[in-house]
Amino acid sequence: MASIGSVTRQIAALEITNNGKKPAGASSSSSSSFRPGHGKQPSQNVSKLLTKFSAPNPFPNTKPAQGSSLRHPTTATNATTHASSSKNSKAQPPGPLDIGTYDGGLEADEEKRGERVTGEAAEDLALDSSVSGKNPTREWTLHDFDIGRPLGKGKFGRVYMVRTKSEPKYILALKTLYKSEIVQSKVEKQIRREIEIQQNLRHPNVLRLYGYFHDEKRIFLMLEFAGKGELYKQLSKYGSFSERRSSRYIYQMADALIYLHGKHVIHRDIKPENLLLGINGELKIGDFGWSVHAPGNRRMTLCGTLDYLPPEMVEGKAHNERVDYWALGVLTYEFLVGAPPFEDRDSVNNTYRRIAKVDLKWPKDRELSPEVKDLITKLLRHDPQARIPLTDAIRHPWILKHNKFRESDA
Ligand code: AMP
Repeated sequence: MASIGSVTRQIAALEITNNGKKPAGASSSSSSSFRPGHGKQPSQNVSKLLTKFSAPNPFPNTKPAQGSSLRHPTTATNATTHASSSKNSKAQPPGPLDIGTYDGGLEADEEKRGERVTGEAAEDLALDSSVSGKNPTREWTLHDFDIGRPLGKGKFGRVYMVRTKSEPKYILALKTLYKSEIVQSKVEKQIRREIEIQQNLRHPNVLRLYGYFHDEKRIFLMLEFAGKGELYKQLSKYGSFSERRSSRYIYQMADALIYLHGKHVIHRDIKPENLLLGINGELKIGDFGWSVHAPGNRRMTLCGTLDYLPPEMVEGKAHNERVDYWALGVLTYEFLVGAPPFEDRDSVNNTYRRIAKVDLKWPKDRELSPEVKDLITKLLRHDPQARIPLTDAIRHPWILKHNKFRESDA
């Protein structure tokens, strides 16, 4: 119970529905790390995945007294949010599940931002997982959490590390979104869609959305806590990654994309900024802002980040899930080189032009292996149909060279 790993496993129980039953088959299982067919098994339950990918006990010698060290140091009630916080709490040695110190950001925001939203937009944004779809969660409110350290700020609000007050104490990332700002940006439908997509996804490399609720002014998303933070920060810190590290990320990314495409979800905004790292350093796709749930649909909307746009989108043609194959090629290149392949910092038009011609140049100051050049070349094909299928990409020699798979998996 004291380890993050065990808590991660318990998080699976958040799926417990209103009638207190776990989803069918919610048991632990052992499985290989090579999951070529994984994308075709969307029904694999989250308990299995979390057990499989949960962290080892980082505090093997810590034996907390029953219930005490998991408990938050204080439970001071705040007048504005009524959420418990550790602000001004007496200093205590950090426990194994320390969630850090709350900075009062929610109350600060409450004074400065957030109008009430009315009408159709209010209906669109009345998002509550306790009444949603086939798998309603229990009913959640902000009072149910101890709020810890800030994890970051997004466009529409802050993200905090939190812990549920009731036993067992789950660790989560709680993301706030201000409804009025969503309406101002005219993205209420998009946000709703993003949440609807993410709540249905179960894959070890896709950030879980366990539940959501709202109050008059805000939406709260109960997200899986990505213990190692943003991948982009790591890339900025090191400039680029080794082939071994890149290959592991690309394998996880490809496996997650196979799963998403199997559910007719095209991501469309793959880039390092949208990737988080779990407690074991495993990759987590964390942003579904541009995802499209499009069974058999070919979309014409121009969106996504310029450097990752494929030729068909640059040229305004219809596109399908193979836009993500292209983006995987761009991501592989960026991990290894530290910059995307068609970048032109001076001219957007030149970036477009280079993408349209697939003007791929290898860096002079860095030796890349023939295997990875081969994979990148096969992903960055102008014709979407000519791009290497992801099921082949995860068996590419460059992936096999750097990832340990059991023989029986191959
Ligand atoms: P976002 O609004 O998703 O852009 O989140 C803002 C920042 O909060 C991100 O850049 C991350 O640093 C952090 N963050 C968001 N979600 C999580 C999470 N699930 N776990 C850990 N950190 C997160």
